Parts: sequence; C-alpha cells; structure tokens
Amino acid sequence: MKKIRISALYKPTGIERDILLILNDEGRILEKTKFDGITNDYTFLDGIVFPTLVNAHTHIELTEFENVGKIGNLWDWILLVVKNKRSYPEEKFKNSISHGENFFLNQGVCCIGDVRSVLPEGPYFSCTSGRIFFEVLGYSEEILQAKLKAMETFLTSCNIDKGISIHSLYTTPFSVASDLIKMAEKKGLPVMIHLGETKFESELFFQKDVNGFKKIFPDCEFERIDISSYGDIIEKLNFNENTVLVHCVEFTKKDFDIVKKEGISVVLCPCSNLYWGENLPDFRYIMDREINFAVGTDSPLTNGIMNLREDANLILKNVNYEEKYYKKIFDALTYLGRKVLKISSTGLNKNELFTVLFIPNIYTEERLYDAFFNGGKIFLIQSDTKNGQIFKKQV
Ligand SMILES: [Zn+2]
Repeated sequence: MKKIRISALYKPTGIERDILLILNDEGRILEKTKFDGITNDYTFLDGIVFPTLVNAHTHIELTEFENVGKIGNLWDWILLVVKNKRSYPEEKFKNSISHGENFFLNQGVCCIGDVRSVLPEGPYFSCTSGRIFFEVLGYSEEILQAKLKAMETFLTSCNIDKGISIHSLYTTPFSVASDLIKMAEKKGLPVMIHLGETKFESELFFQKDVNGFKKIFPDCEFERIDISSYGDIIEKLNFNENTVLVHCVEFTKKDFDIVKKEGISVVLCPCSNLYWGENLPDFRYIMDREINFAVGTDSPLTNGIMNLREDANLILKNVNYEEKYYKKIFDALTYLGRKVLKISSTGLNKNELFTVLFIPNIYTEERLYDAFFNGGKIFLIQSDTKNGQIFKKQV
C-alpha cells in the first residue's frame, strides 16, 4: 500500500485542498479522502495536480509515414494515404502506433482520440486511456466495402473504448454516412467526422459542384444532395450528442448555434489548419456559446508541430490572451476533453491507476493557468506497476 498527500487538486468546479490518496500495490486508487493530519509515511506532492492531457483527434498510425514533408496539399495527402498506405506491411503500422504513443506520453498526453483505418492489433494504448475511432474512408466503392467489412470486425474484436469515424462527406457517400450514424446510435458509440476543414470543401458542397470533387477523387461516388450549410448537414444526418465534429473551420455562427442546440462536440486542431493554409475556427464564439470542445493535433506527420500545448497556445493567442479563456482552454485539454471523447478515466478515480500531471509550488487556479500556458515545468506522476513505486518525469 502506498499513501500520497496532495496539497492542491484542480477540478473545473474549484480546487480541492490537502487530499490523501491510498493506492494498492499495483498503484490503483483505493481511497481518496481529506488529509486527516495524523497519517504519516506518505509521499508529498507539494503543488497542484490535474488530469493528464487529452489529444482528442490524431491519426497515430500515420506517425512513421515517409516523404510527408514534400506534401503541401491536403488532397494529395489524402490520396497518398488512401492509395499507398494500404500496401504497407503491418509491422510498419505497429511501429507507428508505439512511436506515436510514446511521443504523446512524453508531452503528458495520456488520453487520445485516435482515428485509425487499419485494424488496431495492439498495442492499443501504452497511455492510460483513450478511444479508437475506426475510420471509413470511401474513395472508391471497392475500398468502401472493404472498410465497412473491417469495421464490423473491429466492433466485435477487442476490448477497448471504440467509436466510428467517417472520414468526410466527400470520401463517404451521404447514404453510407447516414447508415453508419444510425448504427453507432444503436450501439451507443460516438461518431467522429472531419467537417468544414477547408474553404475548398465548403465551396464545393454549397455551390454543389460535385464535379470538383470528382476531379480530385475520380473514383469517389459523391451523391448530389440538397444542402446549403453545415447546419443543414447536421440536421440531415441527425448528428447528436454522440457526434464529434473535427475542425469546423468553415462553420458560421449559425452553424455553431445548431451544434450547441444538438449537444454536439467539436475538436479543434488549429496547427493542422494553419499547416494546410486554412483559416481558424471562430474560437471566441465556440467558447462564449459554451460548446463542448476539445483540442487535437491531427495527424502527427501533417502537423509539423504536433505538440498539444502549441495548439492550445494558438487558440489563446487568437483570442488575444483574454483572461476568461484560459480556464476554458485548460478544461478542454483535461476534463472537458474526456467528456467529448466519453472517457470516464481521469487518473484520479477509484480503482484507476494513479496517473496525473503535477506542477510544484502552485496552489491556485490563476497561477496554474499561467504556469501551464507559459511553459512552466510539468511532471507526469504515474504508478509504476512493475515495482510498485511512484514514477515521476518532466514532460
Ligand atoms: Zn484528421
């Protein structure tokens, strides 16, 4: 048994002070109480503790892709992934997954919303928690059918938190997307979809220039349907509180009002948007409307920075470092991010492996935000199940 005393614990509702945690030999939390002043023999974390970071949208399987530096265009990238990646040996995917997870772990990211289009053979997560969204990416009828089949296998195969990802509405026909959303609803699974990612996408959708897509994706059977806004798409496909929309760069205030009304979540990936030369979403409106949002780095190789705190800082910069947004962004990276992915684990719940982030000598919310966004030293504290010790490393 191990005892840990924490001087401050961050929660979105306020800070809890002087907490005592009792862990079993494996490092799982047995009890969380107020420190009684009598117990001794504890490890003291004198500072503030909070849940590890959530990277709510990434594609770990692409971590070790070659020659990506030469691609400066989203469409070429998608074609490369769809056409070439499928012939890569399985070993390469496994290496990518391990590599990507370690990369994120070293940033203090222990919860991942990972979009995969190959079957996850494990390791699923070297981190503590996450959700794997299996991606359907149509492109051609043949690939689409193969993906749908693989999806069925995925949904019955492994014991992890799962979700369904529809790559986009230009690589998956509306009717198929609609069926997948209904299926996810029945199974109680979240659905993740890239939507409103580029100016080009919205121009083609709403000017109904389906042939534009055909020029880029010649084999993709895109159906012509009557839509005039992203809000329209949301309503036509019955997106709901199980839906996670990624990017939303091209969304108008009106579209976001519908997002809010339907209880939909969004994931923002600003570094990725800038990488492709796109605009940034209306961060201020998203936060002012109190839309559930999280932050993601998107693909490890298409995003040159791929550090979640860089994405967070970019959002902050874009809202002129206004004080009221610090908390909202910090919560999106920790507690709210987990809510978006429907992950209950925080590293601080009963029966969980103790896994948190820690900043020494900080006891208030304001100083926490300040330290976090201004490059303060952060430590990952984790139960080391192998030798029963508490593991601490700077991230
Ligand atoms: Zn993505």
